[in-house]
Amino acid sequence: MLKTEGIVLRETKYQETSKILSIYTKKMGKISVMAKGANRPKSTLIANTQPFSYNEYQFSQGKSFYYINQADIIDSFYDIRENMDRVIYGFYLLELIEKSMPDEEPNEKIFLLLEKTLRLLSQIEDNYLKLIVAFELKYISFLGYKPYLEECVMCGNKESSGYKFSNNQGGIICNYCYPKDFSAKLISKEVYTSMVKFMYARLEDLDHIEVSEDTLCRVHDIIENYILYNIDRKEFNSLNMFKLNKLNIDE
Ligand SMILES: [Zn+2]
Repeated sequence: MLKTEGIVLRETKYQETSKILSIYTKKMGKISVMAKGANRPKSTLIANTQPFSYNEYQFSQGKSFYYINQADIIDSFYDIRENMDRVIYGFYLLELIEKSMPDEEPNEKIFLLLEKTLRLLSQIEDNYLKLIVAFELKYISFLGYKPYLEECVMCGNKESSGYKFSNNQGGIICNYCYPKDFSAKLISKEVYTSMVKFMYARLEDLDHIEVSEDTLCRVHDIIENYILYNIDRKEFNSLNMFKLNKLNIDE
């Protein structure tokens, strides 16, 4: 019997009445779970098997799946579902973990980061992107790809007239090093200083960081690309939904 806290990242219907879940657990990392009967309208497992649901689980191990023996809800993060922005950003966080974490590799720091970020997301009324950007920077750092921002990652130059962000070098490069990576993207001083601030700020203190919407979106673009580069993916589906949504509103 395996007892651990876990957060449901994804549910997939299986046959008529069951679900296959991807759950990010504190002790075992990301695991695949067969929730038999969880798709029945009267199943006692409904609340424990929806995305965002945070539970204390007891699993048993089968051949290709884990099975739920017991689930006690800690938080359903119901307030995330109340608001369209929260839902979209929330699903993005789940997708990010689901697509980038390898199976059964525990990382308690990432579990706690996810739990805390979902909790804050369910409470805040605006500035969602600030929370997402701070999450992304901490997440990629905990994964082992902390962006190097102190000086040029290639030559150590601290007095460049400008900087670019290089995905393959994992940090900023100076104007002398631009020719060594043509795919690097130019970043303004505001983008650079905001990145540093969001990397080190506590998630509870993001309101104090002054940043324009433009700069924030740019930081998000840079970091999203950097994450995709490192996990070898092209895009996140849930973010496309967000971009479409924005487009519709803007029109
Ligand atoms: Zn350099």
